[in-house]
Amino acid sequence: MGNALFYNNIISAILAFVGGACAGSFINAAAMRTVAGRKWWGKERSVCDSCCHVLSAADLAPILSFLILRGKCRYCGKPIKPGHFGAELISGTLTAAMFWRWGVSSAMLVSALVMWFSLFNALTDLENGYIYDASALSLGAIGLLLRVFAGWGVLFDGILGAALGFGFIGAIILISRGGMGWGDALLMAGIGGAVGWKYCAFSLYMGFIAGGLVVVPMLLKRKVKRKDAVPLGPFLAAGSVFTLFAGNMLVTRFGGLIGYNPGWPWW
Ligand SMILES: [Zn+2]
Repeated sequence: MGNALFYNNIISAILAFVGGACAGSFINAAAMRTVAGRKWWGKERSVCDSCCHVLSAADLAPILSFLILRGKCRYCGKPIKPGHFGAELISGTLTAAMFWRWGVSSAMLVSALVMWFSLFNALTDLENGYIYDASALSLGAIGLLLRVFAGWGVLFDGILGAALGFGFIGAIILISRGGMGWGDALLMAGIGGAVGWKYCAFSLYMGFIAGGLVVVPMLLKRKVKRKDAVPLGPFLAAGSVFTLFAGNMLVTRFGGLIGYNPGWPWW
């Protein structure tokens, strides 16, 4: 029955959303603790950012607690940072979309890893302008490791991707003398190692378009001055996630130029 399959898929997507929202909650907590220079493993309990009251399990329920409490701390009534809610909603929605698109597969696993690491880097970049080398490089290392199992050609594609990501941003840094940081170069090296050079090229392209769409109107409205550093990490992260979904279509469209592609995760 087609209908039964459809409802199964809906239920699975809801479960994927809940799992993804929990992952987003964890990633946000880890990112904020990293920025604050605290370790994010061990027994430290989550507390309210304003009153430092220890949060209960119910307070930590992703998305629901934010909606029920209307974005305010239960104990002190101060607003909860919208970043918590945003990270949970983005991770939940994208995880469900990835599950819907790929089901349980290596394509889903690699896509989710890229998305979660990109989310972490975007959050630290937004919070204090830093992309942490260890996080960016971990994604590249995991990506290359997974590629080892898929064969030498696939591994080589990842190495090319890492080189392209690092080299492209690095060249911009050297030519423009600032504006972008080496953290951005490492972020794209990590993403390139996971997604390979074709997806890395599209990620860069989409990231710069997304950045331009947001930054140029801000420049026109004079909300930012041309010399202000705009965090680029979130745009590069958004470009990569967009490419995860649209990349196969894009690569196929340019297939005459760059050869046969069997599809994501390895091309
Ligand atoms: Zn509070």
